[in-house]
Parts: sequence; structure tokens; C-alpha cells
Amino acid sequence: MLAEFDLIRRYLMSPQEAQAANGVALGNGDDATLLMPRAGQQLVVSVDTSVVDVHFPHDAPGFAIGHRALAVALSDLAAMGAASRWCLMALTLDQRAFVDKKVAEQWVSDYARGFHTLCQQHATTLVGGDVTSGALTISVTVMGEVPTGIAMTRSGAQVGDVIAVTGTLGGGAGGLALWQKGERDITHPLLQRYLLPEPRLAAGVALRSIATAAMDISDGLLADLAHLRAASHVGATLEPEALPLAEGLEQLLGQSDARKAALSGGDDYELLVTLAPEDVACAQARLADLGITLTVIGRCNEALGVTGVSSADYAGWQHFSGDTP
Ligand SMILES: [Mg+2]
Repeated sequence: MLAEFDLIRRYLMSPQEAQAANGVALGNGDDATLLMPRAGQQLVVSVDTSVVDVHFPHDAPGFAIGHRALAVALSDLAAMGAASRWCLMALTLDQRAFVDKKVAEQWVSDYARGFHTLCQQHATTLVGGDVTSGALTISVTVMGEVPTGIAMTRSGAQVGDVIAVTGTLGGGAGGLALWQKGERDITHPLLQRYLLPEPRLAAGVALRSIATAAMDISDGLLADLAHLRAASHVGATLEPEALPLAEGLEQLLGQSDARKAALSGGDDYELLVTLAPEDVACAQARLADLGITLTVIGRCNEALGVTGVSSADYAGWQHFSGDTP
């Protein structure tokens, strides 16, 4: 079987030169890593754990598992308006699941390719790792920077602000439903959305001086909006017909369930933001330059709870993952 240190060195660490170029004063080889945050920046830190058959299917391609584990962690930096710089990975690997060493090495190689490709896309350096044995679990700690005092939070929404989302919704839930129906062509737009989500880091940076509040959508729009409403002490009126549905979602589920997936499905990793109405055009223009849409889906008000959607719009959506593996 594979020796831990061989694994870490060969597949899981960023090259020394990449580390040195990105503020790593002391990289792998010691007991811990020394990092050099830039002056005038706050360090933004978050951790996410992905467990096999809870957060991703066991038969997903290795590179998608690597990509996704990092993407969901980076999404939290995006929500804060941070630029990503470093990450740590704790990989628990079920070595007994592999028939022979070659198969194990191929899987780790594919997994590392997915992880490192996304690292490179977001100028993120893997600065430390731990490998242990057990059910496949990936825990990723991400570290980013934001100029002091301008990070986006969930608590700044004001009555009268509009509510908007980046990209499209429902793709995570739709992709999971499609995977469970046996579709394995991961170029399908819905499987791309589910297995290879793109963290909205550039959008977060572009919005951080405009948005009054922000968070990422990981548990479903209504569930996450409830967190934002609670933190900001506002209510919300939504326009269900305005929801930007993921490509292929209506064809797969029909209009009613597609809307339910957009409201209550999880794993979309888009940004949910609130903005003063006069700032919407500017925010949309900034994101258009990045090739990202920003869609107004409602407005903050003084009422408690959410209006504009009835239980018929979201009740009965079957969750496939999370607490009910
Ligand atoms: Mg989050």
C-alpha cells in the first residue's frame, strides 16, 4: 500500500516554487507551515468536510471529487469577498477499497489533478496535508485575504434592498437527480453544476464594495436566505418566476419541480447578495465583465419570514443528500 509521505509528496503538495511565490515563508518538511499575509489585509479562514455518499457519490470520478472538495470550501471565501491564497487538505482514504497499488495511485493522481487544477485557477497554494486511513473523507481549510474592514457578511441587509443571486439555481439538485438516474456523461450541464461547481471568487471580490450582505448558497436558497434574514433582521419577498434556473433543469424535472429545486435544492454554490436598488446596474455590469449573471429575485422588507412563495412552490422537494444518506 501507499506510504503516507510518498502520497503527500508526489501528488498532494504544491511545488516548492509555487509556494515560495505565494507568501509561504516555510513550506512542507517542517511540522507546520509559516505564511506571510499581506499588510492591510484580514485573513479569512474557513473549513469544509466532504464525506463519501453524503456529499458526493462514491462512484464519481476522482478528479471531480478533488475539484468539488476544494470548490465548496472556496465558495465560503467567495461569500466573504475574499481572494483565495492558501489551503490545507486532510484526506482520509479507504485503501482497502483499492484492489492494487496501481489502481490506488491512479485514483489519487486523478483526485490530485482535480484539486490542483482548481488551485491554479484561483491562485491558491496547497501548503500542508495529512493523509489517514478510513472512509473517504476530505477536509479542506481555505485561507484568503480581504482588505481590512470590507469583508461581506450576512448581517448588513436593509429593508428596501433588493435580493439577487449570481449564475443559476437548481443545478446542484438537478445534477444529483440525474446522477442517481444513471447519467454518467459529466459534460452534461447539470452534472457539471453538481460535480464541478465553480466557486464565485471573482464575483465576490467585484461585489464586496457594493453588496450590503452576502453568503453562498450551499443548503438551498430558502434555507440560506433564512440565515441571512436572521442575521440582518429583515424579511423577504421573493419572485419565484424570476429565479434563474440551471440549464437543462426544466427539461429534466418539469417547471414545478425545477422551481422547487431552485428554491430548496442544495449544492448550487452561487452567491446570494443584497444591494441598494440604485447599485444593481453597477453590480450587474461588473459581473457581466466576468461573464457572470446577477439576477434580482426579490426584495427585503420588514415582515417576518418570506412572502411571495407558497408552500406549493417548494414543499415536497426530495433531498437526496445531506442528513439522509
Ligand atoms: Mg457558506
